[in-house]
Amino acid sequence: MAKRKENPICSFCGIEANKNIKMVRGSYDDEAFICEECIKYCIDIYNQARPKKKARQKLEPVKLKNPREIKENLDKYVIGQEQAKKIISVAVYNHYKRLLRNFHEHIDVDIEKSNVLLVGPTGTGKTLIAKTLARFLKVPFAIADATTLTEAGYVGEDVENIILQLIRNADYNIERAQWGIIYIDEIDKIGRTTSNVSITRDVSGEGVQQALLKILEGTVCSVPPKGGRKHPHQEFIRIDTSNILFICGGAFNGLEKIVEKRIGKRVVGFDVTGEMHKVLSKYELLENIGPEDLIEFGLIPEFVGRLAGASPLQELSKDDLIRILTEPKNAIVRQYKALFEMEGIELEFEQQALEEIAAETIKRKTGARGLRAFMESIMTDLMYESPEMTGLKKCVITKDFVTGKKDKPKLVYNKKAAA
Ligand code: ADP
Repeated sequence: MAKRKENPICSFCGIEANKNIKMVRGSYDDEAFICEECIKYCIDIYNQARPKKKARQKLEPVKLKNPREIKENLDKYVIGQEQAKKIISVAVYNHYKRLLRNFHEHIDVDIEKSNVLLVGPTGTGKTLIAKTLARFLKVPFAIADATTLTEAGYVGEDVENIILQLIRNADYNIERAQWGIIYIDEIDKIGRTTSNVSITRDVSGEGVQQALLKILEGTVCSVPPKGGRKHPHQEFIRIDTSNILFICGGAFNGLEKIVEKRIGKRVVGFDVTGEMHKVLSKYELLENIGPEDLIEFGLIPEFVGRLAGASPLQELSKDDLIRILTEPKNAIVRQYKALFEMEGIELEFEQQALEEIAAETIKRKTGARGLRAFMESIMTDLMYESPEMTGLKKCVITKDFVTGKKDKPKLVYNKKAAA
């Protein structure tokens, strides 16, 4: 017979108790013991297996803001684009109203899900609008780029990765993720055929549109939980996309020509003196986008049917860019001023300097996207040197400094330091 050890032995791992290893005795069988390490291990396994606390939290419905409130919040961050902000505020309001319909049982009309399409050149605020909306409504947000889906062609998995990103941003709270907003950029690049690339027909684009269509319409998706998180009893995360709001965006170069072909460039109007002809600008043409134009551009009809309507964004003017530099709550000029203020230096931008920055950015054709990079190229040397400029009180950025004609801005020193 094997010699019994004197101290209790853990029935799980076989370790013997000593002064450092404590044991708990079983209440049913007093010969059964479990050591501290095994207890910790069991708690870990238990915690992993049970649904996360957050996921079990009851979903608080989004507090519905009216379209005016939604737009007023957009106004704080997004300059110009009045019409687009208005259209999207109404669309978002209706979207969440549709979700809250579940709480109004007496209404038995099915309100169809409609997603939003933003049409406008790069750097005009499409992503910014989507991001600002999500922050204001306090719903999770994710950005996806449709072109990354094009390469793989007919892929289901890639499209589901978009949803995974939203789930991650909702901290794996599936209920919250189901009320989120996803911005899909460059949607124009997955056209089946576009009038300008008819020779190199991109058939794979249609496959991607079909895959995207499913999640836009609303489906229960099985998303593989990649990224190293443990989900021991669950290989896929199941999520319903019916309540996720998709905002699609793209530049749609040449779409205005399609609209023009359909409606003509000149419209007839009447003024006090009688009939007049008005030549429509690119933006005005885009205000008339119809589903047929998007289909001719290369989007499949079912996909177009899932978009509430297209709202165009305007090319930003010099004045818009100056406003973007100075007005929003987190405007670039405000940020630089704050950085200098922390050094005890007052930073000022002359109006002509701001105009030069805006004009140069327009030349680069990057919309407002280029403002930060350009500003950094102007300010970096100064930021490098200013902490060592003893007695520097004020720094004025002039037009000549922006153009490089002068290598220093106007610098004002404390009298004492200068003496
Ligand atoms: P896109 O239209 O290509 O999605 P973004 O929204 O990503 O452009 O814009 C890039 C950056 O340019 C934003 O983060 C923001 O700083 C600035 N920006 C662009 N448009 C506007 C705008 N209308 N108002 C304020 N800032 C803007």
